This record gives sequence, structure tokens and C-alpha cells, in this order.
Amino acid sequence: MDDLTYCSVVVPIYNEEKNIPELHARLAKVMGSLNKPYEIIYVNDGSVDGSSGLLGKIAALDKNVKIVELSRNFGHQAAVSAGIWYTKGEATIILDADLQDPPALIPEFIKKWQEGYNVVYGIRRKRKESFLKRSCYFIFYRIQEKTAKIKIPLDAGDFCLIDKKVSDILKNMPERNRFIRGMRSWVGFSQAGVEYDRDARFSGKPKYGFRKLMRLAFDGIYSFSDIPLKMSLIAGFFISLMCFLFIIYIVYQRIVHGTSAYGIATIAVSILFLGGIQLIAIGVIGEYIGRIYDEVKQRPVFIVKNLINL
Ligand code: UDP
Ligand code: MG
Repeated sequence: MDDLTYCSVVVPIYNEEKNIPELHARLAKVMGSLNKPYEIIYVNDGSVDGSSGLLGKIAALDKNVKIVELSRNFGHQAAVSAGIWYTKGEATIILDADLQDPPALIPEFIKKWQEGYNVVYGIRRKRKESFLKRSCYFIFYRIQEKTAKIKIPLDAGDFCLIDKKVSDILKNMPERNRFIRGMRSWVGFSQAGVEYDRDARFSGKPKYGFRKLMRLAFDGIYSFSDIPLKMSLIAGFFISLMCFLFIIYIVYQRIVHGTSAYGIATIAVSILFLGGIQLIAIGVIGEYIGRIYDEVKQRPVFIVKNLINL
């Protein structure tokens, strides 16, 4: 590992007091075994449990540990971005605090990096989560793959290694709606996946509620595709065509058979149907406008309250 001069690890933390001791023990062991200088950057994303105190204690004992404390909860993607901002390593590893991403895989990531890959990401072979959640993930990743303008690997989360070239680019990407696994693909370079079984959470509840997860999923789709906008165009063309054919049919019925037997139900259904489609189309435009609004406000992605060992 002679080419690896310095390695950074970024871990976002939101109310993970039960996971931190085990996580840090495993992480420090793996990083120590590499025999290279390293830093572990814990980003405290506005935790309200004992995480902050616990991290402070660890950082006081271990100078390789650095803490970035955000001024409030900014969300997972912002926390990871904050961590990346402070990294100095030739390579940076990003992993979750709940031990769903096994630290033991890090040496394998580094090996791939030494083979010349700039991005090495974990691919989830198996998940130990509920059937419903697994199905949602499955569907989301496939929709995203079909819609995105760039190739985003299937079933790859944020667990990854990125080298300095990539982290420098990510640091300078100004977007507010950050979908890091997409941005990581977007930068290009050579990328490789490593398969692993994703464990269940070591302890505690997932910090992503349904709404946060949906928000992330839509960020992933809207940030890398304009197909949702085009869908109303396609629907518009299709419906207009159907209506046109229908008009011809009505005129034909009227002239040839002299009948015009279409009642109130037909009218009601067509109005409601079109009304629904129009509302969906406006909603989709709204999603994009909301995101444009977020971007133009130019607010920082995160605010740092406190730094330790940095
Ligand atoms: N996290 C965070 N801020 C948040 C939500 C989550 O920093 O607002 C962290 C959390 O502590 C964990 C990681 O992001 O280290 C992934 O969160 P979680 O395990 O809840 O997500 P899931 O595994 O369900 O995707
Ligand atoms: Mg998790």
C-alpha cells in the first residue's frame, strides 16, 4: 500500500449513541491494520442523544478522530458533504454509522483503488430489511436507472471509496439537492463495484423516515432526469390523438347513422381524467420548481457549529 499516503473516512452521525462505540472499535482496528496515516471524520448531524459527548471523548483520546459538528440536522447527504469538505486523504471512504456498511470491506476498496479505479462503491447483494422496504428500494433503483441521463449503478448506496480527484470535484459541486451516489457517478473516471451483503442496523431505528426516504428517492430521479417533465408531453400527444380519433368516430356516427348517443357520464369521465393528468403534470413541474428555488437561494448546504481536531 505504498501509494496510499493518507486515508480519510467520513461517517455521518445522527443519534447513533448505541452504535458509536462498536463502530469506532471496528473502524479503528481496520484503519490501524493498514499501517498508514489516516483520519476518521465523524460528522455530528445535529444529534440530540449522547452522540455528541461520546464523539468528544473519542476525539480526546484519539487524534486520528476529527469531529465536524453541524448547527442542526441537515440530513444525511448534507452531513456526508460536510465530511468530504474537510478530508485531506488521497482516498476517502464514506460509510454509515449503523454498521450496515461493514468496515471490514475497506481494505478491499483500497485494493481496487490501487488497481487504478477512482471510485469504488459497494453493491448490495442481499439486504436484511423488511420485504416492503426491499421492494421499494428495488423499484426505485430500477426507475432511476431507466430515467437517468447518466449510468448510475443499480443497488449501490453511499458506501464507497472516492479518490482525491473525485472528492475535490464533489467539494466544488454547488448543488443543494445532493444525491451523492448520483453525483459520484456523474463525475465519470473509472469506477468499480464490490458486492457485499448489507447487514441489518446494528442498533437503533433507521433515521430515514418514509418522507425523508421518498425525498431522497425523488432527488435521485429529478436531479438526473427530465423524463418526468416530458411524460406530460407524451401523455398530451397520446390523449390528443385518441380524442382526434374519437371525433372522427362521432362525426361518422352522426352522418352515417344519425346517432349522437353519448351521455353525461362520458363527459364527466373525460373531464376528470384530463383534470387528473393536468394536476399530475403541474405537480411534476412543481417538483422541479421547488428544487430550482432551493438552488437559486444559494444557501449553504450545511453550517458548521464546532470543529474538533481539525
Ligand atoms: N444520518 C444523518 N442525518 C440524518 C439521517 C441519517 O447523518 O438526518 C446518518 C445516520 O446516522 C447513518 C446514516 O446517515 O449513519 C444512514 O442513516 P440510516 O441508517 O437511517 O439510513 P438507511 O440505512 O435506512 O438508509
Ligand atoms: Mg442504515
